[in-house]
Amino acid sequence: MQFVADAMLGKLARWLRLSGYDVYYSRNAKDEELLNVARHEGRVLLTRDITLAEKARRLGIKVALVESNSIEDQLIQLKRELGLRYERTPEKALCPGCNGSLEEVGREEVAELLPRGVLEAHKEFYRCTQCGKIYWQGKHWQSIARRVVRIEDKVSSSGK
Ligand SMILES: [Zn+2]
Repeated sequence: MQFVADAMLGKLARWLRLSGYDVYYSRNAKDEELLNVARHEGRVLLTRDITLAEKARRLGIKVALVESNSIEDQLIQLKRELGLRYERTPEKALCPGCNGSLEEVGREEVAELLPRGVLEAHKEFYRCTQCGKIYWQGKHWQSIARRVVRIEDKVSSSGK
């Protein structure tokens, strides 16, 4: 399943990409652009805007009208409504910044680009094949992974 996210859902777009979902997102995208991309690429529209949601439905686009401002509640809603699974492995993740795919790179390839502390504390590094940004499983990644585990637990214990 692939998505188009409206301008208000930048954070959600990043989280979904990290969890392995392909998300079209541009901060300046107009409604028409979102609808076009959703329609032509068969993507599900994620929006907080009820008018846009209705417009999309009339065009036959699948829509999730996102109810909450909280990232956890948003992820829970999508899991319940669309059955999403949130991956926690970097091999499956997409670049949160640009939606590009990540490739594993050796430490020597990134040695000059990262602070020594980071290099010494981590074994695996990943580079975005589109924008070149480098990722590793640091504190931020781990805290996201923990929250995702919590969300998976919450939804499965509530009987879905
Ligand atoms: Zn990128």
